[in-house]
Amino acid sequence: MRTAAVSTPCPASALFLHHLPPRCSRDPSSRTRLSISQATVQDRHGGKTRGCSSLGWSRIVSERIRKRRSNNQIFASIADISLEQSIENPSLPKGDMWSVHKFGGTCMGTSKRIQSVADIVLSDSTERKLIVVSAMSKVTDMMYELVNKASSRDDSYISAIDNVFEKHKLTASELLDGEDLARFLSQLHNDISNLKTMLRAIYIAGHATESFSDFVVGHGELWSAQMLSYTIKKHGRPCCWMDTRDVLIVNPTSSNQVDPDYIESEKRLEKWFLKKPADIIIATGFIASTIQNIPTTLKRDGSDFSAAILSALLKARQVTIWTDVDGVYSADPSKVSEAVILRTLSYQEAWEMSYFGANVLHPRTIIPVMKHSIPILIRNIFNLSAPGTKICQQPVNENQDRKSLDSVVKAFATIDNLALVNVEGTGMAGIPGTASAIFGTVKDVGANVIMISQASSEHSVCFAVPESEVKAVSSALHSRFQQALDAGRLSKVEVIPKCSILATVGHKMASTPGVSATLFDALAKANINVRAIAQGCSEYNITVVLKQEDCVRALRAVHSRFYLSKTTLAMGIIGPGLIGGTLLDQLRVQAAALKEKFNIDLRVMGITGSQTMILSDMGIDLSRWREIQKEKAEVADLDKFAKHVNENHFFPNTVLVDCTADTNVANHYYDWLQKGIHVITPNKKANSGPLDRYLKLRTLQRLSYTHYFYEATVGAGLPIISSLQGLLETGDKILHIEGIFSGTLSYIFNNFKGTRAFSEVVFEAKEAGYTEPDPRDDLSGTDVARKVIILARESGLKLELSDIPVQNLVPEPLRACSSSDEYMQQLPNFDKELSDERDDAEASGDVLRYVGVVDVVNDKGSVELRRYKKEHPFAQLSGSDNIIAFTTTRYKDQPLIVRGPGAGAEVTAGGVFSDILRLASYLGAPS
Ligand code: ADP
Ligand code: ASP
Ligand code: MG
Repeated sequence: MRTAAVSTPCPASALFLHHLPPRCSRDPSSRTRLSISQATVQDRHGGKTRGCSSLGWSRIVSERIRKRRSNNQIFASIADISLEQSIENPSLPKGDMWSVHKFGGTCMGTSKRIQSVADIVLSDSTERKLIVVSAMSKVTDMMYELVNKASSRDDSYISAIDNVFEKHKLTASELLDGEDLARFLSQLHNDISNLKTMLRAIYIAGHATESFSDFVVGHGELWSAQMLSYTIKKHGRPCCWMDTRDVLIVNPTSSNQVDPDYIESEKRLEKWFLKKPADIIIATGFIASTIQNIPTTLKRDGSDFSAAILSALLKARQVTIWTDVDGVYSADPSKVSEAVILRTLSYQEAWEMSYFGANVLHPRTIIPVMKHSIPILIRNIFNLSAPGTKICQQPVNENQDRKSLDSVVKAFATIDNLALVNVEGTGMAGIPGTASAIFGTVKDVGANVIMISQASSEHSVCFAVPESEVKAVSSALHSRFQQALDAGRLSKVEVIPKCSILATVGHKMASTPGVSATLFDALAKANINVRAIAQGCSEYNITVVLKQEDCVRALRAVHSRFYLSKTTLAMGIIGPGLIGGTLLDQLRVQAAALKEKFNIDLRVMGITGSQTMILSDMGIDLSRWREIQKEKAEVADLDKFAKHVNENHFFPNTVLVDCTADTNVANHYYDWLQKGIHVITPNKKANSGPLDRYLKLRTLQRLSYTHYFYEATVGAGLPIISSLQGLLETGDKILHIEGIFSGTLSYIFNNFKGTRAFSEVVFEAKEAGYTEPDPRDDLSGTDVARKVIILARESGLKLELSDIPVQNLVPEPLRACSSSDEYMQQLPNFDKELSDERDDAEASGDVLRYVGVVDVVNDKGSVELRRYKKEHPFAQLSGSDNIIAFTTTRYKDQPLIVRGPGAGAEVTAGGVFSDILRLASYLGAPS
């Protein structure tokens, strides 16, 4: 069933002895052969060949065969070498004269791209080149689909194969013309009709064997290799294409893998070369044969492996893997936008990266080239100016990759769609052979174990397998250990589905303490739960298993922590009113400086009001947020908003900033914190709401690594909550807190003096914008009571808002007024009572101040008008300043006093902003 091999004619011109290799081969065995050939071979002018010339020898032999075939004539000068001998014992030139290139499907996607590939090949000045190509992009998928369709008796395989035909016909017609095009199309036609026959057989049988399937799917490479070969030939450069099924011999292994048979492959390569000793060889990637000449493949993405095996056979100077990215990134660039290109990687690091899912390189690529120290270069066909990544024995200039010395971790990779199997039980401890029994059972079902972790107590062994294989693994383990389970020696065989592996790779990890600590700290701070851990003795990688839904976030969290040392925060702003709007403006002004000086990258991913919201994937342009709100707003939906900010972005840390005074919004905090979203707010509703809800919030906050900051709930930007927390955390005991917590009431009483009427001062305050639109909201005292309850709870008191007696400054009859205007009109009628009180106080050298009090010793609080001596700090206030006095065991004789402007959008937004920066520093930003 072999496809007839069509080759572009091999050149006679390239076969002369003056064409000697520039350097000797690295391979000692080829040097031995070299001396034989040097001893025996003469050039066709009768002279001895010069230098190290296994190449010359083989060329002469090849030349002889060709000549003999063509005109039956043998050169007298080499008549002492028998042809039979030379075929049995051919010597393929090996060593630095060869460079190997591999072009992935991404590079072979269109005729234009194939043309660029040809240009690259032609511009390589290395003496000999072997080019390995993948199928055109998507073609292998299409071929697998054909087999699936035919074997499930789906007729549409016929139109699907016609599509494959059309795709190649069109590409070839764009690339080739004349005889070459005709030859290619005739071959393509033949292949397609053979395939149709075969697929028909599969369709009738309703089943495809592995070798049938491998035969079908490998055609993509056969066609792409021929198209490229004709294209190069069109440029006047002779070349041959190689059907690697004639050369690469592999042995199938039990685990759906194949192992190269290097000795047989080398023999076949030498034979092949004898027939077609071209300077440029275009070889099919992916496909191979068994020793019995049955077509097979190197399995998905195997072309990299083909290139590595052929490089090893040729002892090439270098293998360049061309793809669609600039090299190996520190993490998959489609998942981590900040990933950076690594200039160098050691073989081991590259192996770990590819094993753990970095599909830029097939994991089996490394071993063949490592054995001969052949460097691999990964380059981007779409960006020739990028130098790419070099994978070699000893990475040079290691520090060029590093921004800081403490970043020892090189890169991260992930594998999805895994399940974790946990075998647990006290009966496993100290019993030899348990692990072998477990893994023997897993092997029997043919499952691939990706990582293993065993607790040192020997009570549990857990391992990750592909999700598709876990069912079989689980039932095999259950039946194998049925007796042990029944007897209680094993307690369970548990499957944890939907897991991913996150691998951290770097060869310096071995000698650097603290890598694991930093890794787990970054994961914990992103609120990611780790299910299992493994660290090999080589310490080239640390592997963690986590929930698949957390994987991308985890990847971003650890990447930014190790590699970029940049703290990124995705923010959602709720309530773009006076405070929220001011905050957004402050963020806009500071963002660049924060990024530059402190490596803090703050991105506002969404802004929501009560009616509309705007969302962005990479960050809202803060110089235009008001316009964007008008142009692109959608209907507000708080759940959708939170989900968007938390999930749909490239940043591991999320914070929602609630700038409303809304209880409904506050009701979401618990849920958000539980999801790992940090919360910052000047909204008092959560902390002054029902006690049990507050306690639950605080407990959650303490138990998790999520942060909840609310400095601006009391005294706007003044450091009140943080001072109080600082005192408590350092072991001080709070005895008493007393203060003027309302800017409005501070202003009113600072100005309620002499002969002025209370209503007159309230009117003045309202006019100056110091009060709420309805001044009763301030004068009722509820807002102060909320601040008192917040401070009381922060000091450890378990009080409800209703436990705080509040002196309401709104006269009883005016509380029911329907409008603030009506209240303001009637207020002068009630001036007398407060004027009398003020006069009475002044007569005794006192002033009236409206204060909140937390009496920690007696477990109570209050909000009331109190008298203070004229020299008391509370009597010295001006404007709308707040003042708070903490009496503690340390500050007993003289209280600790915090004083300053405690209201207004600028200072409140400033307080919120400083909480945001505090959060960034908790998350690892430099201070
Ligand atoms: P080709 O068809 O050229 O073989 P692949 O799709 O197999 O291309 O491999 C290239 C892709 O590998 C990139 O487009 C990228 O999305 C992915 N990739 C995953 N991890 C990494 C990484 N760490 N560095 C670079 N690319 C990566
Ligand atoms: N064409 C094959 C595949 O898609 C091999 C390769 O591209 O590496 O799996
Ligand atoms: Mg690939």
